[in-house]
Amino acid sequence: AKKRPDVEFCFYSAQMNQKLQDRMRLEFDLWMALDRDEFFLEYQPIVDARSGRIAAVEALVRWMSPEKGRVMPDAFIPMAEETGIIIPLGGWVLNTACLKLRQWQEAGCRPLRMSVNISGRQFVRGDLCRTVEEVVEQSGVDPALLELELTETCLIKNVDETIAKLCRLKGLNVSIGIDDFGTGYSSLQYLKNFPIDHLKIDRAFIKNVCELPDERAIVDAIIGIAKAMELHVIAEGVESREQAEYLAQRGCDELQGYYYHRPLSEERLLEVLREERMR
Ligand code: C2E
Ligand code: CA
Ligand code: CA
Ligand code: CA
Repeated sequence: AKKRPDVEFCFYSAQMNQKLQDRMRLEFDLWMALDRDEFFLEYQPIVDARSGRIAAVEALVRWMSPEKGRVMPDAFIPMAEETGIIIPLGGWVLNTACLKLRQWQEAGCRPLRMSVNISGRQFVRGDLCRTVEEVVEQSGVDPALLELELTETCLIKNVDETIAKLCRLKGLNVSIGIDDFGTGYSSLQYLKNFPIDHLKIDRAFIKNVCELPDERAIVDAIIGIAKAMELHVIAEGVESREQAEYLAQRGCDELQGYYYHRPLSEERLLEVLREERMR
């Protein structure tokens, strides 16, 4: 029998319509979420590889949606980037992270560093430097405690402009790191020219570091490069004691992952810090 292309077409376009509608709905919901203050942060500790003590925390955004409940960033950050919502959202994250850090310190917490993820669009488009300057000023946080995590792909788009921007940020005395290192395209040449302070090895390489010689070779090489360039090196996604021991023995400075701590609520983080002090 002959196919009926019109029926097929209608079906296809109804599907397309649904997809488009879902996207528009999500965009709308994200703007509303910003307006209604539905985003919140969790904090994942980053520990010193030698002492095991918490040296820093990474702020990770979540969305408490009235309909969907708790939504993780992978489900909304791409859309936030595409639509530009990431610029006000990223500003909110920076501001909240710094205010919290300041608050904790005023409550007698020892100085910790705070890492904040910066999306490509935020770095390229938004006036990041000005936002950071304002946030630091308004929160009264020591800028030396604030760390920005950028990804390789957002840095190599326009190298000269990137260097100028990074220098301006460095002028504020904040530190800068490359997140998910090893997954992008950075050449060592760029790395040498960028005024950065740390590299974070992507968790994809950490996953099999104890089993696969190839992964181990990559991890060893990244640590070697970092050392040669006098960069601080952090491993993310550490899930076992074997991984932690291997990375520490290889000279990784700091470790982060479920083996130590999952992302924690503010209350839980403060508890963990208190327990640590009593040990
Ligand atoms: P990321 O920056 O690479 O953050 C690390 C992610 O790995 C977090 O997921 C964290 O919960 C997860 N993780 C940490 N330790 C382990 C481990 O041992 N094993 C495994 N399997 N996973 C681990 P999360 O919170 O879902 O965040 C996902 C991504 O969303 C982040 O990846 C980051 O790219 C983005 N993101 C989160 N918060 C923000 C933000 O405020 N701004 C921007 N621009 N992006 C954000
Ligand atoms: Ca990160
Ligand atoms: Ca990462
Ligand atoms: Ca990642």
